[in-house]
Amino acid sequence: MDYEIAKIAKVAGKCAACEEYAEKNATTPPKIAVMACEGACARGEVARRAANLVAHRLARDETVRICLGGAFTKDTGQRNLVRRAERVIAIEGCFINCSSRMMAGVIADLKPEIVRADLIYDRDLPFGIDEVPDEMFTVYAYQVAEQVVREQIARSPAAGPCRPPVQKQAGSAGGCSSCRTDG
Ligand code: SF4
Repeated sequence: MDYEIAKIAKVAGKCAACEEYAEKNATTPPKIAVMACEGACARGEVARRAANLVAHRLARDETVRICLGGAFTKDTGQRNLVRRAERVIAIEGCFINCSSRMMAGVIADLKPEIVRADLIYDRDLPFGIDEVPDEMFTVYAYQVAEQVVREQIARSPAAGPCRPPVQKQAGSAGGCSSCRTDG
């Protein structure tokens, strides 16, 4: 395996809002850490919005949103949230997998669950976010976020023995696969 070697200059001081959020969400048991690649292109934009939807709207009790830049560049509250999490979900914009590779560089034994957002929505997006209508970002981000909640979080022991899926499927009685009675 080849590695990129980076020297990151340490910064004095902390972002108070970021540390306060990290402290508030450093629960016991730990929440599932949700990070995104945060890419500047349209694929990164979908990943970023999806992570925000998961952590701030669809599964806010079970998850905590990670600031990738903060967690990667300094060893403070955000990195601690990732370090102490039993599960880390990395929503990546494409196969380059920036967030999981970055964080694996600062937390040696990190084993994130990688979700490739671009494999969930059915469009080959351009680079520029100005080339994609805002409503389309919303649709794609929801598709990704709902799949993450349904397939990664609803099955989590932290979510309890049975938790209804975000979107009820046609013909389904709802609930998780272990307690469903509709065959
Ligand atoms: S994973 Fe892909 S879309 Fe996301 S920041 Fe990296 S290169 Fe950009």
